[in-house]
Formats: sequence, C-alpha cells, structure tokens
Amino acid sequence: MPLPEAFDYAVPDGMEVRPGDHVHAPLGPRSARGVVWSVAHDDGSRNLKPLDGLIGGAPLAEGNLAFIDWASKYLVQLPGNVLRAMLRGEDALRPSPVETVYRPSGEEPTRLTEARQRVLDAADLLGEASAADLAREAGVSSGVVSGLVKAGGLVAEERPADPPFADPDPEGEGLALTELQADAAATLRRLVRAGGFQSALLDGVTGSGKTEVYFEAIAEALRTHSDGQILVLLPEIALTQAIMARFKERFGAEPAEWHSGLNPKQRRRVWREINEGRARIVVGARSALFLPFRKLSLVVVDEEHDPTYKQGEGLTYQARDLAVARAKIDGATVILASATPSLESLANARAGRYVHIRLPARIGAAVLPDISTIDLRETPAEAGRWLSPPMVEAMAETFERGEQTLLYLNRRGYAPLVLCRACGHRFQSPDTDTPLVEHRYTGRLVCHLTGFSMPKPDTCPDCGAKDSLTSVGPGVERVAEEAKALFPQAVVEIFSSDISGGGEALRDLIARMERSEIDILVGTQIAAKGHNFPNLTLVGVVDADLGLAGGDPRAGERTYQTLVQVAGRAGRADRKGRAILQTHDPDHDAIAALVAGDRDRFLDVESQAREMLGLPPYGRLASIVVSAESEDKVIAAAAELARTAPRADGVEIWGPAEPRYGVLRGRWRRRLLVRADKSVDISAYLASWKARVKIPASVRVVMDVDPYSFV
Ligand code: ADP
Repeated sequence: MPLPEAFDYAVPDGMEVRPGDHVHAPLGPRSARGVVWSVAHDDGSRNLKPLDGLIGGAPLAEGNLAFIDWASKYLVQLPGNVLRAMLRGEDALRPSPVETVYRPSGEEPTRLTEARQRVLDAADLLGEASAADLAREAGVSSGVVSGLVKAGGLVAEERPADPPFADPDPEGEGLALTELQADAAATLRRLVRAGGFQSALLDGVTGSGKTEVYFEAIAEALRTHSDGQILVLLPEIALTQAIMARFKERFGAEPAEWHSGLNPKQRRRVWREINEGRARIVVGARSALFLPFRKLSLVVVDEEHDPTYKQGEGLTYQARDLAVARAKIDGATVILASATPSLESLANARAGRYVHIRLPARIGAAVLPDISTIDLRETPAEAGRWLSPPMVEAMAETFERGEQTLLYLNRRGYAPLVLCRACGHRFQSPDTDTPLVEHRYTGRLVCHLTGFSMPKPDTCPDCGAKDSLTSVGPGVERVAEEAKALFPQAVVEIFSSDISGGGEALRDLIARMERSEIDILVGTQIAAKGHNFPNLTLVGVVDADLGLAGGDPRAGERTYQTLVQVAGRAGRADRKGRAILQTHDPDHDAIAALVAGDRDRFLDVESQAREMLGLPPYGRLASIVVSAESEDKVIAAAAELARTAPRADGVEIWGPAEPRYGVLRGRWRRRLLVRADKSVDISAYLASWKARVKIPASVRVVMDVDPYSFV
C-alpha cells in the first residue's frame, strides 16, 4: 500500500521475527500483509497491536530492504509502492505444491482396451505427464487414465510442481577467445574475484563477442562466490530466446528467466527459487531488478544504452542506474555492455568510476558494414512511394545474390495519419492529443498511446464525403506493400509488435529469418536489437531523420545509437554487409558521424553541448507532470507548484509548459522540468517541494527523476 513508513506492532509471545520476515498484521478493520523492517525492544507502554502471524518462507534478505529504502528516497516514491514491486502472492512463500505425474510402468496392463492403448501411446510420447494432459492427448476421459493405473500399465509419481533450477556449471566449455576478448575477460574476472563493489563498461562494437566475454565473468562469479547470485538484464528478453540457448550451451543449464511473458506459475517458481537462494543465474527484463535476491555477486546490464530500461509509467525508474545501486548495496560487480554506450556511462568511464574495456573489432572474417546515405533532396522516392531508386537498386542486387534485406522504419501500422481530402478532417484519438494510426491488416485506426481503436469508416464522420479518406506517410505495413510490389518473387514479412500471435509468432519469424526463409524483412525497433541473421547483408533505413526532432535532449544520441544497432545487423557472418540511410539531412552530426565511423567525435560534440547546458550526464533532470480533468484546474495546480518551488542554488525550474500531449486519456496536462547541478540532491529537493505544496486530491502530480520521455 502507498504507506510513507513502517508501522509499529507488538510481537506476540512465542513468535519470533527477523527483519525481512513476511507477516500478517492488523490494519484498520482487516489483516494486511507486510514485511518486518526492523525489530526493537519496547517496554509495552505504547499498547501496540500484536502481529496476526508469520506467513513463512525465507525472509527478504537485508540487501533488499536497504535497496527499497534507497530506491524510495532516490525515486521520491513511497516505500510501500517500491516494496510492492518486489512482493508476489503468498503462494511464492510456501513450498512448491506437488503434482502427480504418470509414466508407463513397462508392464502389460491386466486388460488392454483400445482407449487404454491410446493412453499408453500418449504416455510414450509425453514422458512424464499429468492425468489431464494424458487424457487430452489420447482423447479419452481421465477415468481411463486412473483405470490404467489400477490395471498396472501406468505408475504414478509425486513431484514438485515448481522444481528447482539446475545448477549452472562454470567449467562448461566456451569458445576459444581471441586475444582481445581474452584480455577483456581477464580484466572482468579480476574484478569479480576481488569482490566488493566493482564496475566496468564493456564497450565493444556489434558482433565483437561481448556476450562471450561476460560469460567468462559469470563463470568466475559462479566459481568464487559460491552463494552469490547473478543477474543479467536484457532489453526485449521475451524475443531474445537465442541468448537462453547460449546460456544453456555454456553453463549446461538454463537460467531462470523473468519477463512479462511468464504465467503466474512460472513467476511463483522463479521468485521462490531466488528468494530461497537456489537460483544462481537470472536473465530478465528491467523488472527483474526487483526480485528478492539473497546476495548478488554479479550484475550484467546488456545493451545498457537501451531506452526500454526506463520504466516510464507507474513506479518510474531507470533499471540500469538502479542496477548499479543494487550492486553497490550487495557489494557485487556490475558490468554495463553496449556497442553504443550512453553518455552517462561514458562519462563515468572517463571519470575513472568505471573500468573501460574496449572491443573494437568484430569476430573472425566479419567486418563492420559500410554505411552510406541517400540524400532524399537529390534522389527522392516517386510520389506515393518511400524507397528511393538507389535503395531499390541495392535491394535488387541483394535479392539476386540470394541474400537478405532489413528495411528499418520505426513506425507501426500502415500510415501515421488519416485525413479527409474533402474537408481536411484529421482522425484524432477521442480523449487524447494524438492522431490515429491506420492499421490496414486489421482495418482499424489505433491510438498507440492509449490503445483506443475503431474500424476505419468509409465516409468522413465530419462532412460525410464518401471515399475521401487518404493515408498520409508510411508505416511498416505500407513499406512492405511497396517492397512486395517491387519484388513479387521475394518473401516479404513485417516485424513489429503488432504481429498477431504475440511473442510466439515473433520468435517464429526470427527463426525463419535466421534460416534465410525471408528475403525482405520490414521492421520497427524490435527488429533492430540483438539478432544475428547470418545471411542479412543489406540494412535500409527508410527515414534516418525520424527521432531527431522533438524536445528530447537525448534525441541525437538515441538516433545515433539506434542507427548503429540497426546497421550492426548487417554482415554479421562472413559476408560483408552495408547499411544505407535515407535522409533529408546528411550533414546532421549524428548521421555524418555514423557514415564516417567516428563515434568518439560525435560523442565529444554531443557531450560538449550537454555540458554547456548542464544537462545529463553533466547535470540532473526531473520532470513533474500535473494532470486534471479540466484545463482550469491543471493551470491553477501547475501555477501553485511553480509558486511553491523551494529556492536552492544550482536549481532551475522550467515551465509550467503545455507538453506535446496536452490531453491524455481525458486528462489535461502541464509539465515542469527541474534542472539541477550535479552536486544537488535532486531527490531531496523534490521531496521537500512535495511536502510543502498543497494540491487538490483530484489533481495528479507525477514526479519522474531522470526522465527519458518529454511528451
Ligand atoms: P556482441 O554481443 O558483441 O554483439 P556476440 O557475443 O553475440 O557479440 O558474438 C557475435 C557472434 O560471434 C556470435 O555468433 C558468437 O557466437 C560469435 N563469437 C564470439 N566470440 C567468438 C570467438 N572467440 N570465436 C568464434 N565465434 C565467436
């Protein structure tokens, strides 16, 4: 619950509690679940209510309590809200339930009917299976299964429904490392062996073998810290199943996996095994940071620059930054890995806070792709098309050689905007300031911000004109349509989060792409990350300028990182790859640096600009979004906030201003930005501000420390 602090209770006679224990306690008229934060002696004069009882299970390890205390202060969040991010249902605290499974006994049953034979066949096929699974597979009632047990054809066995994870083996054989990789691995092993808080930035070009290198650090942590746990954070982990296979190959066991695609039973299992200290390696998405580790020995944040590490709604946090803090609390090593490190991490490396390890070359025969631009001002695409003639030519050459093309456009759907040609009506989300995006496969107009959708009508709802609606601009569906028309023989597929069939379908698409069964893949940013497509030699960026606009101080950096990652998908095996960027602004710093392969110059220019403005990483930012059901209310509340801002040296308040989405889900919005010098404790500043301002209950104020979204 959103409680500001721990409450005091008496411990009943005969009960013993330790910090971290899970308990029930009276709260108003009911019994609520809680965690013991600390235990102290009391003379009984305060007449405290007694705890209702212990729930059991291993108590949260102390590092978790310290982490929650720290995170709630840093994020300016109530500790109850942060604790909630760590807890799961009580069943995760109880031992695993047992389930009964059946397998063939090898004996002839006393009477073998045709239905029983089908069950035996099913048991042969499934190995150990539940009665329900056997009955389903055999197409019989479960009575047939129990009959077969009595008749001696099947034996029943009890086993835990949530079995422990197999122990990983550090001595599993890895690849023979190159000299550069071996040096990097030796440095990491040294840090892990030394113990205590250590931090390193593993800065290696795409395909240089960073994963292989941090595997060595994991092996060392398994060897030297026998009770330590290892957390590997990955963006988009539900899609990167290939990495799980690599873990299994290297360590002989699959690690525990944590992401939004798990079902409740899988969650319960992973949570319990981590809380009990049995799971040694966890590979997870950003929320894995809030798992109840007993003691971390190593934390790896792969693709540390990735913007999806920022959780932007509800409890907002930057998982990379919190991972470093968690490692510090547990005295663990933290490795941040990327081909395009964030300015934040590079600044830390330059200041000597992170050991800077570089891997400047790709593995084996693979070389980095050639990167060139197409100036759309000189060679535009034909009207109503999005691929310019030189791009089409490059695609044709690639297709003729039997190689693959990835067309990258970070826009879902068919067209980002739908207009009426007769009256100019724009389709807008009903309670939000955003245009509706046309999705042609589903025939719907969709708001990507709120999820609102409606069927695309035949007539304009404003003027009633028939067949007057026109789609403006391209999305991946539209580019795929163009690619199909240009190359009718080619297999063209779309790779975006809208694909029907969810994670399973996406994984299937990745597998087909890996096997080279797809010629042209048109994808959004989810196609840009982490994948290894050996036969992919051409990456075409449809609109390299997308992302440079807008009020986000990281826009240039992010565009640069995305384009490097996308381009890095090309030529990962022995065939040389190339990346071609369509742009209206080939002289932009980010694009020019990419073509010249001069990352450091780009970062220098970018750093200087940020330093001059006192923006991250050379200053601190926080955003405050105020929202209310009416415009008057939000204006008044934002003004009140601005009026009550505490005065402090080295702090500036920008705004209130109307953000890009002035109305979102029916609520009016205003934004304030706080910029502070690095030396200012911006969290404490926000907390004191929050304490002194009076805002009506109907107005929502959301404070976001280290914001990454400026809409
Ligand atoms: P990164 O994470 O830097 O993009 P990976 O670790 O995914 O790189 O390695 C890229 C590819 O190169 C993978 O297919 C990996 O198996 C292979 N690889 C890495 N190191 C070696 C090595 N020393 N010998 C052979 N293949 C390697």
